[in-house]
Amino acid sequence: MDVYKNYINGEWVESSSGETFENRNPANWDEVVGVFQKSTREDVEKAVEAAKKAYPHWRKVPAPKRGEIIRRATEILLERKEELARLMTREMGKILPETRGDVQEAIDTGFYAFGEGRRLFSMNTPSELPNKYALTFRRPIGVVGAITPWNFPMAIPSWKVIPAILAGNTVVIKPASDTPASAAELVKAFEEAGLPPGVLNYVTGSGSVVGEALLEHPDVRVISFTGSSEVGARIAEVAGRHLKKVSLELGGKNPMIVMPSADLELALDGVVWGAYGTTGQRCTATSRLILHEDIYDEFIEMLVERVKQMKIGNPLDESTDMGPLINEKQRETVHRYVEIGKQEGAKLIYGGEPLKGDEYDKGWFYMPTIFVDVEPHMTIAQEEIFGPVLSVFKVKSLEEAIEIANGVKYGLSSSIYTRNLLEAMYAIEEIEAGITYVNAPTIGAETHLPFGGVKATGNGHREGGWTVYEIFTEWKAVYIDFSGRLQRAQIDTWEEE
Ligand code: NAP
Ligand code: MG
Repeated sequence: MDVYKNYINGEWVESSSGETFENRNPANWDEVVGVFQKSTREDVEKAVEAAKKAYPHWRKVPAPKRGEIIRRATEILLERKEELARLMTREMGKILPETRGDVQEAIDTGFYAFGEGRRLFSMNTPSELPNKYALTFRRPIGVVGAITPWNFPMAIPSWKVIPAILAGNTVVIKPASDTPASAAELVKAFEEAGLPPGVLNYVTGSGSVVGEALLEHPDVRVISFTGSSEVGARIAEVAGRHLKKVSLELGGKNPMIVMPSADLELALDGVVWGAYGTTGQRCTATSRLILHEDIYDEFIEMLVERVKQMKIGNPLDESTDMGPLINEKQRETVHRYVEIGKQEGAKLIYGGEPLKGDEYDKGWFYMPTIFVDVEPHMTIAQEEIFGPVLSVFKVKSLEEAIEIANGVKYGLSSSIYTRNLLEAMYAIEEIEAGITYVNAPTIGAETHLPFGGVKATGNGHREGGWTVYEIFTEWKAVYIDFSGRLQRAQIDTWEEE
């Protein structure tokens, strides 16, 4: 059994608590994937101190050179992709094609950042006065605290760690307690690639101890968080008191609209992948299916037939379509929502139960679930369930579909299936979301585009691509006056010499 330590100032060290916790396989809870440090506030203080000490040197390393270390680390991930995917499936429970995709997302993020090292563009503008330059530069900020969830165990840490260090910051990451091994492997790749000690530090332990210590530490200037809205609100509150910069990527309740002109087979592939991929545990999961009445009966029939054929089980088996939920608590939450759905009058037409039988007895398996006759005010229509539960709505028009799509507090991803160009354009214009897909499901973001959502999904930042650098840099405006005289902005007027 692997014992993982914290990584502080370039050394793998035990927690000052002397205590550890276990990470178990959600498909087979007899299997311990690894043992991790149950860290304390003191451990966080050491990690932040190391990051603070490393910062003055790291920020001076030219960005293209920082990028080269990222490239080397990324090549290590590429070499180990299969091994890392297998480890991730064991610790998280999603199927192998998905964990390969998760590692690939870190690889894509790394190679993008390598290129960005030679770009990190800033803007120059004309001055209002003659013989004067008005320039801007991106500056790193300092120590970044990264707090990540369990559903993308390597991809999400990479979205934060890689651009943060490319931009010249130093980092302390606290990964989710359900999936700390994948984040540790990311850190190891950076260690082997020659990242200087203290630039990246890794501390495991609970959100309430390790997470809170990061939030409150005065030397942590930025908090980058992905997780639940509940914890996100808490983070904004505490970090706000300390005037830290905060980026929040929170929940979703993502709609997929299917119009009569759609290719129904294509829409079917899309909804099954969108709703049941990662066992529904994606912030971008398709949790609401909004069907036009003209295709409603036909599509529901197709959907149930398809879902019945899904193979649920051991996620390491290449033929499995869907693995377990992450843990017992998540399975209880999903089941509680199913009970609420029934009580509120939605009609359960498939699933709605934990899976039973030999193959399932040691894992947190749950049936793919479909509710129809869902009304927009119902709890299952409004709250993020984070499980394989799809709520289906029937509408008379695209306008009504969009009203339902927008009638929730979240706004992360969205999708419309149609072959009518005007309908597609109208949906792009009117859906309140950070991402809209046309003829593709709500999941599947590419790493070089802005990622994030509107309304309660976040606080206006976008990870991914070039926009993530807004989170990890601050602007400096530089004025260079070479006129040789005092020129007062707003007061002196331009005169021809
Ligand atoms: P979570 O409970 O909010 O946990 C996320 C992280 O925050 C974990 O590392 C957790 O530590 C830590 N944490 C918990 N309490 C904390 C506190 N008081 N202070 C500081 N940190 C704290 O979320 P989750 O259950 O892991 O993930 C599911 C949620 O994430 C869903 O709502 C989903 O929509 C959202 N999500 C959003 C995106 C996006 O980009 N929009 C992507 C993926 C997931 P422990 O693990 O130790 O509890
Ligand atoms: Mg686990």
